[in-house]
Amino acid sequence: MDPLPSDKHPLVAADDRADPVSQRPTRVRVDLDALTHNLHALRAHAGVPVMAVVKANAYGHGLVPVALHLQAQGVEQLGVAFLEEGVALRRAGVHLPILVMGGIFGPQAAQLISEDLEITVSSLDKLRQVEAAAEALGRKATVHLKIDTGMERIGVHSYHAGPFIEAAVASRWCTVKGVYSHLACADDPASPMTRQQLEKFLEACAHFDRLGAPMPIRHIANSGGVLHFPETHLDLVRPGIALYGVLPDPASQATVDLRPVMSLVSQVVYFKVVPAGHPVSYGATWAPGADTRVVTIPMGYGDGFPRSLSSRGEVLIRGQRHPIVGRICMDQFMADLGPQGTAYNEDAVVLIGRQNGQHIRCEDVALSAGTIPYEILVGLNTRIPREYVGGDRTA
Ligand SMILES: *Cc1c(COP(=O)(O)O)cnc(C)c1O
Repeated sequence: MDPLPSDKHPLVAADDRADPVSQRPTRVRVDLDALTHNLHALRAHAGVPVMAVVKANAYGHGLVPVALHLQAQGVEQLGVAFLEEGVALRRAGVHLPILVMGGIFGPQAAQLISEDLEITVSSLDKLRQVEAAAEALGRKATVHLKIDTGMERIGVHSYHAGPFIEAAVASRWCTVKGVYSHLACADDPASPMTRQQLEKFLEACAHFDRLGAPMPIRHIANSGGVLHFPETHLDLVRPGIALYGVLPDPASQATVDLRPVMSLVSQVVYFKVVPAGHPVSYGATWAPGADTRVVTIPMGYGDGFPRSLSSRGEVLIRGQRHPIVGRICMDQFMADLGPQGTAYNEDAVVLIGRQNGQHIRCEDVALSAGTIPYEILVGLNTRIPREYVGGDRTA
């Protein structure tokens, strides 16, 4: 297949450094060297091949640039949620094995096969649909069988796995490359659920031995599994958020040296003094007790910067932390420098990342916003240009 240029695909936020229309100072900066470091650190820790999870625009980091970088770094496999994400990767010239992890609809089976995407088969019905499509195309499908061990999302219950595995093994039109499950509580190192799920999964896998069939690649570990439960590493690990240098949960432990890949930066667009008692922003929910210096930053919930950070979040300017004050608007928000704070128009503002030794982590932002780090990362939408630093940009 002739790869189309990646910047032609609408899912892709291309590297816009050369794009004269994108002069927005607000940007997501993606550190490709940190991504490389995390890939190698996670692989060394797990000691098995890595399926890098790049669904949801690579957790907001940019699907195609991240996938191409990981491919150049020798990652073994990619995982996405949906058919469309897999197709976008193929069009961009990604030749790695790609597993579509979401449940499939029958009519998608033919396209999954012809795009050379690996299919999650999560029920006997879906197995039959994939077989029918493969037979019609005269081309075998590569499938991973999904076993439900406690998530109750998709997959055949582990206690009903026998006939399902038997049918898949007997299939003339499906090659069973993998068998997998998903952990519900692995972000919490203290949860007993993970070991119970692993036990159920291994019991289901034993059906392959019972049938005298070769054992396919067994995988169950998400980031939490990789970080906290070595016994879940099995034959392949599927880290998502950890690859981007972010911990899945405040309860998670940094058992691997991970580097944050994403920074979120902007610049001061306006400076003023707000007199005591004069409220700031929609709803007039916040007003200073004394005259204070307030700056405006050109980013808002229209970019996916959560409105729940209104009067709760912080920003870094000139190496100082300053609180976000008043409601976050669609395209702008305000931060209070205090009566003595200094800032000038165009000063660099950091929303996520480091500045002069200070650090606002994605995890901190998520706590302030009352959500999880995942939602912060994937929420940053394509109105924010992505800028890629590090890596081999000449390749
Ligand atoms: C999203 C996802 C992952 C990655 O999860 P993280 O917690 O980000 O590591 C792994 N496996 C499946 C099936 C997923 O849906």
